[in-house]
Amino acid sequence: MAFESLSEKLQNVFKNLKRKGRLTEADVKEALKEIKRALLAADVSFKVVRNFIKTVEERSVGADVMNGLNPGQMVVKIVNEELVNLMGSETTEIQFQPGKAITVIMMAGLQGAGKTTTAAKLAGIFTKKGKKPLLVAGDIYRPAAIKQLEVNAEKQGVEVFSMGDQVKPPEIAKAALEYANKNNNDVVILDTAGRLHIDEDMMSELQEIKDTITVHQTILVIDAMTGQDAVNVAAEFNEKIGLDGVIVTKLDGDTRGGAALSVKAVTGKPILYVGMGEKLTDLEQFYPERMASRILG
Ligand code: GDP
Repeated sequence: MAFESLSEKLQNVFKNLKRKGRLTEADVKEALKEIKRALLAADVSFKVVRNFIKTVEERSVGADVMNGLNPGQMVVKIVNEELVNLMGSETTEIQFQPGKAITVIMMAGLQGAGKTTTAAKLAGIFTKKGKKPLLVAGDIYRPAAIKQLEVNAEKQGVEVFSMGDQVKPPEIAKAALEYANKNNNDVVILDTAGRLHIDEDMMSELQEIKDTITVHQTILVIDAMTGQDAVNVAAEFNEKIGLDGVIVTKLDGDTRGGAALSVKAVTGKPILYVGMGEKLTDLEQFYPERMASRILG
């Protein structure tokens, strides 16, 4: 489970803080040093940790806290609030177009991040919201991707638009949109091709899709298990094609949690959902407050 070790370490720091009646500045600094170590061990990016610690320190060594009734408790509260801020403070919902207008969502991400699975998971969530999503098979380079999308879509009771693997993704996207119009779909989810690493072809293909049709939401899928690499990938995608939000998958297998903690701070883009398993129901809306509580126990 994510954050296991971070959670344990922070709880130890907090136990010590709360036990003390009065706190000196040195006590706070010592606690912050341990918090810093715990965050770095959780693979939170260094810059993010530095800023985090600075903010908590500035807020904690103020007279209000140090002379307050329960300084230890106050420091814990500040750490909690700043963890929530780090992850985006508020829950961000995917914005749909008004009325019957079609919302186009493009899924992006490296191969294996969980794009195809997450597209099908999202389709299920939208169906429950009363939408009529259309999944579009745009990952034409990975041999099994189209079939995988079809199998998952069928489980979700959602239709797939596919043109096989010979038509270019921007053309598929355009045809899919025409189909969606006739078919009364109100959400179109485009699965796209990933690569093992960021490369120009992938980026320009995504950009071409965006130049061909109006994409309302570009959502990047990142694999939590790859930690800071995932965050770097997110920064690069955001710079090159512009993101509206991020979905962090495989949080169920990631014991550290650094990607989930850093990605908003690094890219400025919110986490929308988190993947918590391989089953099609294992996608949860992301609540920064709940995540912070999960970490702090
Ligand atoms: P894509 O190449 O980005 O389309 O990746 P896939 O959707 O094919 O996913 C790659 C693998 O990750 C598959 O085996 C998925 O079942 C698995 N996967 C996706 N999301 C999650 C998740 O949240 N948790 C776990 N444990 N596995 C996931």
